[in-house]
Amino acid sequence: NDGDTMPVLVIGTGYGGAVAALRLAQAGQNVIMVEKGMSWTQPGSDGKVFCNMLNPDGRSYWLRTETDQPINHFMGAPYNKSISSYTGVLDSEQFSGIRIYQGRGVGGGSLVNGGMAVTPKQENFASILPSVDAGPMYSTYYPRANAGLKVNNIDQTWFQGADCYQFARVGIKQAQRSGFAYTFVPNVYDFNYMKQEQASTAPRSALDAEVIYGNNYGKNSLDKTYLAAASGTGKVTIVPQHVVTTVAPANGGGYSVSMNQIDTSGNTVKAKTVTAQKVFFAAGSVGTSKLLVTQKATGKLPNLPDSVGTGWGNNGNVMVARQNQAWDATGSLQSCIPCVGIDNWADSGGPAFAEVSPFPAGIETFASLYLAITKNPNRGTFTYNSGTGGVDLNWQTAWNQPSIDCAKRIFDKINSKEGTIYRTDLFGEYKTWGDDFAYHPLGGCVLNVSTDNYGRLTPYPGLYVIDGSLIPGLTTVNPFVTITALAERNIEKIIAEDFH
Ligand code: FAD
Repeated sequence: NDGDTMPVLVIGTGYGGAVAALRLAQAGQNVIMVEKGMSWTQPGSDGKVFCNMLNPDGRSYWLRTETDQPINHFMGAPYNKSISSYTGVLDSEQFSGIRIYQGRGVGGGSLVNGGMAVTPKQENFASILPSVDAGPMYSTYYPRANAGLKVNNIDQTWFQGADCYQFARVGIKQAQRSGFAYTFVPNVYDFNYMKQEQASTAPRSALDAEVIYGNNYGKNSLDKTYLAAASGTGKVTIVPQHVVTTVAPANGGGYSVSMNQIDTSGNTVKAKTVTAQKVFFAAGSVGTSKLLVTQKATGKLPNLPDSVGTGWGNNGNVMVARQNQAWDATGSLQSCIPCVGIDNWADSGGPAFAEVSPFPAGIETFASLYLAITKNPNRGTFTYNSGTGGVDLNWQTAWNQPSIDCAKRIFDKINSKEGTIYRTDLFGEYKTWGDDFAYHPLGGCVLNVSTDNYGRLTPYPGLYVIDGSLIPGLTTVNPFVTITALAERNIEKIIAEDFH
């Protein structure tokens, strides 16, 4: 409530925020979490909390009147649909050279993501977080994160016969035929539940085109894991539909935090200001970066370092699809949960880790779709725009060319071996590469650059960053396990040293 004082405020309920809240509560602290998006617990008129990808409605997107699908064309024609404007679960945030997809709601990105829970290879860790000692990460914090997130592995015998993974088996066969390594990828989606979906003994979710607009069943998103455990301590209160706008030192100590309570049309219904002794920024790479560059530029937190807003990368994301031969059908029933990756990271000429993605059209398409994570050296910078009062990102679409070059090393070879071609009708008219959007924003407040080596904003004691903005642009694999493990490491240190 307006005027309240509190010991700890966490901004955002994604991975970083959820870890902070749980561990602080277990250490005896009372924690308030504020979240811009909704609490996704109430079913709509169709009896479901979330809509699926084939029939999107207002629940799908954050305040848009038309969907903005990653695959926005089909057979070369625009494929978006009209929807009612609502505080939906997936935000496609447009910057000049890239649109960045993010989850909105209690659970952040865990509500909309593919659940792929990948621990990077230890040999690559020094390139991900150079100032962090890999030993304890791999002995303690990655295992702790995997346990907290309820990561599980697919039953490979079942996989071989499941209709819903025909597309993935085709992906493996073709990777092998071209000499590429592949790996099964762990997930937070409950694979035992998926077996029941395939057997038609439980309501379908992953097998009913549900993922980027939320899963009604099966997925252990953060609201079912870390956040449920945090609430279970009785010490954590989650306040949805509140957008934090300013953070500044308060008279008499602590920080004054202003926020707008919004309705489902995005309109402010009440402005509130509270005072917190300690504040954790966990609004995600984009959200935290935007908040910090704004506070610095508008004089609320003028002593933040100049590096705030820099070091942003897209995890080398690029998407592409291939059209298979008639004997390589990919299946009309596809699980929306990816479970296989082609691992070409060891190729020093162009490292890439490409997940074999579902393309749930409900019909046979003979298409193979991939989301590649690549080694792209380009980094963007967020800056405050005093004209608009917003925050710009200087990333340019052309900066994704190194990612395309990495991905081509895999898919040119597969096309040549299979006698197949790229599809050019999915990401625009005659456009092969999905190079102008990202699922994996990382950086903007890099660990040991803009913060100390544990996420403290040192000019302001009691302010911390604990989300994907700490990671300098690339994790070599899908990022959320690394975000979670780093948060586990940092919060342990912060609790030991800063909370007495
Ligand atoms: P987030 O999870 O983004 O959480 C930040 C939260 O803060 C959000 O809930 C947001 O609404 C809230 N917020 C923002 N600004 C404010 C504000 N001003 N006031 C209050 N609240 C605010 N990663 C994987 O590892 N595997 C995958 O399979 C995978 N698939 C993905 C698929 C899609 C479609 C998308 C979009 C992402 C995917 N990701 C995946 C990426 C992953 O979800 C993100 O890396 C992760 O969620 C980032 O965690 P975070 O804690 O940094 O922030």
